[in-house]
Amino acid sequence: MTFFYRLAITISEVLSYKLKIFAITGDCPALKLVLKFTSHVGYYCCWLCYIRGRHVGGKRQYEFKLPMIMRDRDAYEEESRLAEQKQINVYGHLGLSVLSSVLDIPLPDAIIIDYLHVTLLGHAKALILNIFHSFAPNERLEVDNWFKMQIFPHYFNRKIKPISKFGFVKATEVKNILFYAALPVFQLYLSIEQLSHLALFICFTRLLHGQSIVGLETNKIAKELFEHFYRDHNEYYEGLQNLVLHLHVHFVYMYNNHGALTNIGCFGQEDLIGYIGSNHHGTRYYGELITYYYNIDFALHMKPTAATTKKIEKLDPVNDTHDEYKYLHVELCDCEQIHQCFRLYRRFIINDRIFHSLIYKKRGKSNSYFIQYSFDQRHYQFGSIQCFISLQSTEKSYALINVHRVQQKYSDYFKSTKYYDLLKKPLDNYFLFWKNALVKKQLY
Ligand SMILES: [Zn+2]
Ligand SMILES: [Zn+2]
Repeated sequence: MTFFYRLAITISEVLSYKLKIFAITGDCPALKLVLKFTSHVGYYCCWLCYIRGRHVGGKRQYEFKLPMIMRDRDAYEEESRLAEQKQINVYGHLGLSVLSSVLDIPLPDAIIIDYLHVTLLGHAKALILNIFHSFAPNERLEVDNWFKMQIFPHYFNRKIKPISKFGFVKATEVKNILFYAALPVFQLYLSIEQLSHLALFICFTRLLHGQSIVGLETNKIAKELFEHFYRDHNEYYEGLQNLVLHLHVHFVYMYNNHGALTNIGCFGQEDLIGYIGSNHHGTRYYGELITYYYNIDFALHMKPTAATTKKIEKLDPVNDTHDEYKYLHVELCDCEQIHQCFRLYRRFIINDRIFHSLIYKKRGKSNSYFIQYSFDQRHYQFGSIQCFISLQSTEKSYALINVHRVQQKYSDYFKSTKYYDLLKKPLDNYFLFWKNALVKKQLY
């Protein structure tokens, strides 16, 4: 490895590449091995700080404690060398890592904790199972039924998995429950205090691993959310304060150091490969999938596309005359030939993405008619597409949309809890209550 590292790769007389090794990521057992560290139940098993585990009820627990004493680069190197020479355990080090001579960023800063294993398949999965098993048997059946009824856009790829079948659950499935379904469903069964405590963890995770909604404050808010969650953990759960929970306390620091690269982990590879493997029907969106999964940089993802002209393919025209929509022609067009002019469609492909409407009956259980849209590119609203309309005379196309107007703030539900002030901003960005109305949106 060192050999390859020192060798520049020569492409031509004027061009040669040098390999830079930026960071290391992996699940906990893999990191423990490559970093030559004590196991996840050892006393000083955190790679980033000197937290000392405590033995509670037959389990090693890592309780929240401030200030955190961080491992710095020099101490890290010194302690690992000492462990190597004397063949002893020095604050968790069992020896010198093979990576220490090749990494361009010294340890421990080069360690990226893997979000897929630590959050989704780690603590989130454990929390969801723990809460689920605290319910009565009939409540568990109801919860699984709620999850079954939840629908998603057809490109979403996965349904919500029943918690009773969590044995082989995939990280994306845990993510869908955690991000979207857990709060609205668990709120029917959990005490408001425990629900608000869970909301701390959900908002923390969505802030760091979803689209940025609070801009530069992301780190500060995420840190506070998690510290409250960690500090009060014992009030709601027993024996779950393991290394995996503790590692979350370092996510904000990693986010500061590595930016959106923090998300790279093993998530991209595992999920993308899994998706391609099971993609029997083919997809047209590989480019989007790759950028989506790899999350290289959210800025790339969020950049508005230069092309403003929209490419529309009209699919599935409705042949019979739909009298109930005729008033729309009167509103939108001056011509007299409604029969030649006015066309209804069930589906449109807009800029290569397919959209269904509510009159498209073959949409099955997918939800590809629910959209976020804007008239001015500044204020966004949500709604479901009733149908698509095309006018021959004016050569214009429209979507008729059932608007879902925000009726009430979701955070109001948490007003009585001690976390209300912390939760208010992120919760209202992620969860909304609707009220319906009908509008027309011109597509081009
Ligand atoms: Zn630590
Ligand atoms: Zn007309």
